[in-house]
Amino acid sequence: MPPVIDKDLCNYCGICYNICPQDVFIFDKKQKQVPAIAYPQECWYCGACVVDCPRGAVSLNLPLPLHIVPSPALYGPPGPEDSEALKRAADFSRSIERNSSKDGTGSGNNSGQAEDGL
Ligand code: SF4
Ligand code: SF4
Repeated sequence: MPPVIDKDLCNYCGICYNICPQDVFIFDKKQKQVPAIAYPQECWYCGACVVDCPRGAVSLNLPLPLHIVPSPALYGPPGPEDSEALKRAADFSRSIERNSSKDGTGSGNNSGQAEDGL
């Protein structure tokens, strides 16, 4: 689901419009109006609009596969207590990349076992 803005909380500051790397929003700062979600299909769920909205007016429902990574849209900006979890997630991603690049199939250890048997 693309971002949703709570019209009762929004103060028309335009931060979400300015911060969005995908230009999902349309906003005219001369008009006192809630930004429009003009290009929802362009959203890549980075969570920047959720984190940076000063009124907590933006919510985002992530597609299920994205729930396996620690997204700021779900959990807020990482604090010191989250650093170990983020490090483990980064190590896990790197290990997948390393194993996938060994044989190009993503099969990781299976490739090594086949080579051992030759
Ligand atoms: S950042 Fe929040 S308060 Fe500001 S325009 Fe966007 S939704 Fe409204
Ligand atoms: S989650 Fe990221 S890409 Fe999607 S609307 Fe917000 S700032 Fe833009």
